[in-house]
Amino acid sequence: MSLDRLIILGGGITGLTTALQMRKQFNEIVIVERDEYPTNGNERRFTPQGHHIHVLLARGVSELFRCVSELPHWFDEAGLLESDLTGDIWVAQAGNWLPRRPCGIPTRPCTRPLLEQMLLRALGRYRHISLLDCTKVKAVIGTNSVEGAVLMYKNGETQELRGDLVVDARGRNSQVVQEIEVMGHGLARETVVDAKVAYASCFFKPNTGASLPCSVLAAIGSFGRDPRIGTLMSVGNGQWLATIINYAGSAPPKTVDAFLEQSAALCVPDLHEHLIRAEPSSQVTLNKNTANRRRHFNELKGWPERYVVVGDAACCFNPRFGQGITVATIGARLLADELTAHLAARTTLDGFSRRFQLALDKQLESPWQMATMEDKGWIALQRGRISLTDKMRIALSRRLLETMAADYDTYIRVNRVAHMLHPIGTLLSPRTLAKFLLPQARRLS
Ligand SMILES: Cc1cc2nc3c(=O)[nH]c(=O)nc-3n(C[C@H](O)[C@H](O)[C@H](O)COP(=O)(O)OP(=O)(O)OC[C@H]3O[C@@H](n4cnc5c(N)ncnc54)[C@H](O)[C@@H]3O)c2cc1C
Repeated sequence: MSLDRLIILGGGITGLTTALQMRKQFNEIVIVERDEYPTNGNERRFTPQGHHIHVLLARGVSELFRCVSELPHWFDEAGLLESDLTGDIWVAQAGNWLPRRPCGIPTRPCTRPLLEQMLLRALGRYRHISLLDCTKVKAVIGTNSVEGAVLMYKNGETQELRGDLVVDARGRNSQVVQEIEVMGHGLARETVVDAKVAYASCFFKPNTGASLPCSVLAAIGSFGRDPRIGTLMSVGNGQWLATIINYAGSAPPKTVDAFLEQSAALCVPDLHEHLIRAEPSSQVTLNKNTANRRRHFNELKGWPERYVVVGDAACCFNPRFGQGITVATIGARLLADELTAHLAARTTLDGFSRRFQLALDKQLESPWQMATMEDKGWIALQRGRISLTDKMRIALSRRLLETMAADYDTYIRVNRVAHMLHPIGTLLSPRTLAKFLLPQARRLS
């Protein structure tokens, strides 16, 4: 079956990777983006998260590199060199450094704007893919089957664009839940887990000759006691990006002075010591839009044909575990694979969108558990009413962190899950569980 036009609503990382993954399946792909893409690699207005640290998980790196073979070379060109997951990313937890020896799992430091620029560069090679930037999606057309979208251009003119399949990639503020309800398919349940996490970031220019001893330095406070995480990374253009993450509603720094003050209170002094030998080169930028939000489209009885939802629009995470881009790339590949499988057995797209949405939901389970376990503990502590489940969750989170610090094998296992190379169930093996539960098993290993 020949598919003519794919319309992608939203040109963030999800929209762009979806276009790349689906490039062979449609005669024409149109990406509609309300923002203007900057030419200088700066952050965009409608992706305010671009000011903050973006760790690319190992699985995300391999998905992206599989999709665009030149990416490793472009990362190198930008000075974002391959980093070993434990050898080059140094993490201190509650004042103790976690093991810093290489484990052979490659990852890359990155910034969201740089990655976006590289994906745009890759898309530029395909004549059948076009970008309508400065164009806002006003509405989605259709009820039982989505036929396209109403677009509004910068000059206020509107136009209908019709296609065979429409992808919603409008991010965490997408109106898709309301749209689906208006179409008559019911109101999708949303689970929101909001640990009131605030990101504050600031760029610094290191003094001549100064450099970081690794690609990313991270100082993580103590679960339930010290709500602060600091990160510092070199972003390849002679600048460092420093981020302070405050949990549980604790006040983020709003000025450079307050930023330096909070960096001095992190669980190890290293970040602060580097920062005081550098010059701030930006204001402090804040982002508090960090709640975990999962939209349970799989529970709806009906679903419109020819309409799918991917990336943050389907499920977004507290960014602390850096899952968003990786989940976006997994969703984009799944969409292409599911479409191929569907068309191998059928001659129309009927039933495809619901089938995809169910398949995507299964992929979200593991990252969702990972992202929300600790957050639920923080929320219970903030609330002050701690149920038995919360107590167990808090005890498990603490024990997991202690075991990671004491046992290299567990540290790597947890990292493989955190980087989405292995499912969360692998942490339930008898050997790993014994280490969580029995201190003597940890000592033996
Ligand atoms: C503070 C913070 C830090 C983060 N750190 C990390 C990290 O370390 N690692 C990681 O992997 N992820 C991180 N993320 C998440 C990551 O940025 C996203 O998950 C990822 O970029 C995928 O987003 P998306 O493309 O689905 O949505 P978005 O990036 O929100 O893109 C949606 C796009 O749709 C466009 N759009 C929206 N509405 C319309 C409309 N009506 N018409 C036209 N266009 C529209 C927007 O302009 C935007 O360009 C972080 C997020 C935050 C908030």
